[in-house]
Amino acid sequence: MNQKRYQGYLIDLDGTLYRGIEVIPGAVHFMKRLVEQNIPYLYLTNNSSRLPEQVAKHLRGFGLPATPEQVYTSALATAQYVQKNYPGSKVLVVGEEGLRHALIEVGMTVTDHEPDVVVAGIDRSFDYEKLKRASLAIQDGATYIATNVDRVLPTEEGYLPGSGTINIAISHASDTKPIVIGKPETIILQYAMDLLHTKPDETLIVGDNLETDILTGVRGGVDTLMVTTGVHSRQDVEKYNITPTFVVDYLDKWEI
Ligand SMILES: [Mg+2]
Repeated sequence: MNQKRYQGYLIDLDGTLYRGIEVIPGAVHFMKRLVEQNIPYLYLTNNSSRLPEQVAKHLRGFGLPATPEQVYTSALATAQYVQKNYPGSKVLVVGEEGLRHALIEVGMTVTDHEPDVVVAGIDRSFDYEKLKRASLAIQDGATYIATNVDRVLPTEEGYLPGSGTINIAISHASDTKPIVIGKPETIILQYAMDLLHTKPDETLIVGDNLETDILTGVRGGVDTLMVTTGVHSRQDVEKYNITPTFVVDYLDKWEI
């Protein structure tokens, strides 16, 4: 089906490689072929809560080949963006360990006191106090950055409030729109391609979500492989009017 040999793969996690506690059929075979053929890849996730080593361990638990260096999260991309554009800044964080750690790693000072930047992502202990502090800081002139704006987070319990839902609250309270880093924005894509050392026309994005994974490719001029094992189906392609370059029902149908 594919005519081209891609030099780098950017692969989504949930709905693409696993669903809840189950690995998706074909995913392990697909990843093993990438490894056999020495094709560089990154696992690309909007989830900012976990550390790369935790994500890699989780993937290895499914039999998927993963090192921490092969995991690129919206937390890492956000930290990179802050480091590049607001070096040495004081950052107020609404988020979990993965985000906090990523910002500290690149030399930022994490503080609630007079921050230059407010960064917000998924935070499962989000409350009125955090909303208040973030909103006041933004109103006082701090730059407002969201790791991603995914409305919900798929879990075994169902669809839980995601980073997008938290950011709607902060955005509404502060009357300010955030700079968004994660998929479908292309900031995370650009940084990921820099890590892979690939150009847009040498890269393939693999994912299940038209509104995040596939739209990232459309916006960034990168080919996309949609797999119908997650949130969207072939019928959704027309409905959303977002067109992947390729569609497969299972990843082992893809010839690398
Ligand atoms: Mg997904």
